[in-house]
Amino acid sequence: MRLRNITGSREVIADSRFVIPEGKLEQCPGTFHEIFGNDHPVHIEIGMGKGRFIHTMAKLHPEINYIGIEKYSSVLLRAIQKMEEEELPNLKFIRMDAEDITKVFGKGEVDQIYLNFSDPWPKDRHAKRRLPSRQFLARYDVILREGGRLEFKTDNRDLFDFAVEELEPAGWKADVITYDLHADATLMEGNVMTEYEEKFSSMGNPICKYVIYR
Ligand code: SAM
Repeated sequence: MRLRNITGSREVIADSRFVIPEGKLEQCPGTFHEIFGNDHPVHIEIGMGKGRFIHTMAKLHPEINYIGIEKYSSVLLRAIQKMEEEELPNLKFIRMDAEDITKVFGKGEVDQIYLNFSDPWPKDRHAKRRLPSRQFLARYDVILREGGRLEFKTDNRDLFDFAVEELEPAGWKADVITYDLHADATLMEGNVMTEYEEKFSSMGNPICKYVIYR
């Protein structure tokens, strides 16, 4: 996804009512129910890209509040454009590097986390940048409520094997592990395809998924 330098994207984001302003992020912990004006559960997608998955989820589940997190302004811009076409009251966006996630969400404030087709960072020395790494699992451990689930999908088998190996040392357990999600009718019930999932599954790549808790 190379959309990183669209002129004016930062300004559009700063002015968008769909985005929680960067200057206010550190005041967010403990306030998400005020932000949405209700006490519904909060589900987040980290690295949402252009936001197709989270927009569809928010439309299907109005009883849940969704927050899409994306590092790059020019990618987030696409998700904002989708919201301008079809506005949903239960969806907000944050532009940030997920490394700072514990500064934005309070302890146990998140009910569910989604990671979809996270960047693989194939070099060993970059392993701690991978969103399902033990370093990130430790951050999710802070913000995810007790009993909350984290779901991860990818077609990248090396990244998925790495993610599964990280679970035990990080103190997480798997509810579900599949190496071919689309071949499992039960797991496919309610599955919402992401942009990358559609692209890679149409090329014949099996999609791996886990659902984990601690
Ligand atoms: N989830 C989407 C999908 O499945 O179609 C997009 C997948 S794309 C390969 C990964 C996205 O994660 C990119 O948009 C990237 O900018 C974002 N990303 C990667 N590392 C991130 C981080 N540390 N914090 C926030 N977003 C990140």
